[in-house]
Amino acid sequence: MPKSLCENCRQMREVTTPKGSRFLLCQLSITNPEYPKYPRQPVTDCDGYLPIEKPLDGRPDSNAS
Ligand code: SF4
Repeated sequence: MPKSLCENCRQMREVTTPKGSRFLLCQLSITNPEYPKYPRQPVTDCDGYLPIEKPLDGRPDSNAS
């Protein structure tokens, strides 16, 4: 399966069930109904995609050491 954009997106939150199933929750769905809560994977094109390595404020990640 091709890698999904969700895997590297700030909007994604990983949800793992007690049985070990893994789901990718799109947090953009909370404020924008056009985005499904659990997008069909893999997502290869998405207007809401925010890459993790690009800080929103343009500064380097303050958590990096
Ligand atoms: S905004 Fe797009 S790429 Fe990001 S988690 Fe939601 S569906 Fe995936």
